[in-house]
Amino acid sequence: MGILVVGSVAFDSVETPFGKADNVLGGSATYFSTAASYFSEVSLVAVVGEDFPNEHIDFLKSKGVDVNGLQKIPGKTFRWQGQYDYDLNEAHTLATHLNVFERFQPKIQEVYRKSPYVFLANIDPDIQWSVLDQVEKPKFAACDTMNFWIESKPDALKKLLSRVDLFVLNEGETREFAKEPNLIKAAKKILSYGPKTIIIKRGEYGALMFNGNSIFSAPAYPLELIFDPTGAGDSFAGGLMGYLANTDDTSESNIRQAIIFGSVMASFNVEDFSLDRMRTLTLKEIYKRYKEFKQLTHFEDIS
Ligand code: AMP
Repeated sequence: MGILVVGSVAFDSVETPFGKADNVLGGSATYFSTAASYFSEVSLVAVVGEDFPNEHIDFLKSKGVDVNGLQKIPGKTFRWQGQYDYDLNEAHTLATHLNVFERFQPKIQEVYRKSPYVFLANIDPDIQWSVLDQVEKPKFAACDTMNFWIESKPDALKKLLSRVDLFVLNEGETREFAKEPNLIKAAKKILSYGPKTIIIKRGEYGALMFNGNSIFSAPAYPLELIFDPTGAGDSFAGGLMGYLANTDDTSESNIRQAIIFGSVMASFNVEDFSLDRMRTLTLKEIYKRYKEFKQLTHFEDIS
């Protein structure tokens, strides 16, 4: 079962307490599709400028990502500049240059319109909406966002949520979007906007899933070395959606397993800058870490 993803493909400049990287490959759809490619077929729809080198496109192709929907148009590629302090859970955006995304009107080609799994990666909620208008109702639609859109287009985002099955966002964004400091109350409020399930990413504290009245808590993998948290959220979503599409099962118990695969992908991604860890990552390492997660959270029931 294939996934259609629409989101940003970017040049990122990132500074963490452990080093910095300038104009490296980034973007929500880039991280998502690379992580998802380990589990499922994935087709990417996005736009880049003429300054985007073919080597990055070749990297995505080497992962088996279908890049036929990646357009190159006159202008500059989207650029994001961010910085992290010792608290790596929070990215500070220093600059966002939408560039070619300012005029981007995604045209979903006929072949992608029947995709059973659709992921609207972090991008303008109006663009996310127009994608849903063009596809046949997917079996499972999910979306992500970030504070930039919560602050600039909250109403468009709220409207979009009535059309998705799953919404993933991080802890700070949850509080900001719901205007509610308590995470449980905030989650309930966001669920009332429409999605069946929401997953709150909590960085090094793991992830929380809210589905009706049920809550599932997953830990994060305890890592000693975290170089660059950029893309952790998108890699999480890529692992999660990739696993759901691979198994073609969106039951709650399968979403729980998918959350662990998402957490595994996020934990690998932060071990190096940009997508560099994904260049060498193997499926064998992914399965090994999944088992370590199982061990990490295992405890006996009381009799
Ligand atoms: P995350 O997984 O949340 O760390 O996402 C990081 C990625 O989001 C970076 O590679 C950025 O290029 C991309 N990004 C940052 N700001 C935006 C934005 N406003 N719209 C779309 N993508 C963005």
